[in-house]
Amino acid sequence: MTDLLSHCRAQTDAVVQLLATLVELESFTAAKPEVDQLVNYLEQHLATVGTPHITRIPQTQVGDCLLVKWNADLPSTPILVLMHVDTVWQIGTLTERPLRFSEDGLMFAPGVLDMKGGLAVAIHAMKVLHERDELPARPIWFLFTSDEETGSVYAEPIIRELASQVGLVLVMEPPTSEGAIKTARKGVAQYLLTVQGRAAHAGNAPEEGINAITEMAHQIIKISRLQNLQQGVSVAVNTVKGGFASNVIADFATADIDVRTLAQYDMDQVHEALMSLYPMMPGAQLEMRLDHMRPPMERNATMQKTFNQARALAQQLGMSLYEDSVGGGSDGNITGSMGIPTLDGLGARGTGLHALHEHVVIRSLGERVAHIASILRDWKFD
Ligand SMILES: [Zn+2]
Repeated sequence: MTDLLSHCRAQTDAVVQLLATLVELESFTAAKPEVDQLVNYLEQHLATVGTPHITRIPQTQVGDCLLVKWNADLPSTPILVLMHVDTVWQIGTLTERPLRFSEDGLMFAPGVLDMKGGLAVAIHAMKVLHERDELPARPIWFLFTSDEETGSVYAEPIIRELASQVGLVLVMEPPTSEGAIKTARKGVAQYLLTVQGRAAHAGNAPEEGINAITEMAHQIIKISRLQNLQQGVSVAVNTVKGGFASNVIADFATADIDVRTLAQYDMDQVHEALMSLYPMMPGAQLEMRLDHMRPPMERNATMQKTFNQARALAQQLGMSLYEDSVGGGSDGNITGSMGIPTLDGLGARGTGLHALHEHVVIRSLGERVAHIASILRDWKFD
């Protein structure tokens, strides 16, 4: 075992302790006061890790963001470590499902895996580099955002601005349950289709009505045909609403459409097809609205090269590193689609993302700390 790996493994208790503190500070995305308290804690705690430059980025709708920079004044290329402090768990979930440890070395708590484990691992990587006096001569930036679980609507401009200035982005989301880094993530887009028809009495004057639900049915068939699972393209209508009484011809209907693709090209094709839908029934009107889009993180040449270097660094530590692709998005989709080398899934290992059995494998923590520390210390830019 290398010196760095054994040093990091010896920190496991301290990582667990920090992680316990982080999960005790519940941080549901919509609960700004509570999220801000977690940000307060991180602000104070990180001030003790070397002498970083800390900037709080106030937010009005969601919790504040926090930017922590080490070696801020050095002219070399920075590395950005991207983390979100928010979770999908409402305040009070911890009372129902308190932090607990199992005999086989698992740590259970809401948010422990997604992604407070990643926070604890990254913070300890910086602690270890300081303790060993091995902080590299390059700027290292930690960005903590607060609305990733609702699509990073507020954080996205901040992420883009910072990512455009760095040579590498590390996303501290958990790896797959087998421990693989995520080198491809599908892009996600959500649309709302509204059909406008005309109401009429279903008994007395059905000929005067334009049934929006019937029109919607035509559209759903067309939309469903855009799906191509072999090519990694899924297009699904997952909620439909319409009409208001069984004896009135429905004058409106709405549908939510969920689109996921591996490639940006496919995302663009589906977008074009959705935007050019036209009504099948005379007099009906369609309105298609794009509500939200996260571009795909593609497994392109940059991604392969970036993964190869991360794997080589893991091998130097005596560890194997694997890669995999997933359907869910993260902030890695933003930076990857910008063409910035991005490694996603570097956080703590475990299973149960957004689920009741969410947990972290405690013995994975030391390895993860060592891997992050070695990337921060030894990464070579072209
Ligand atoms: Zn997450």
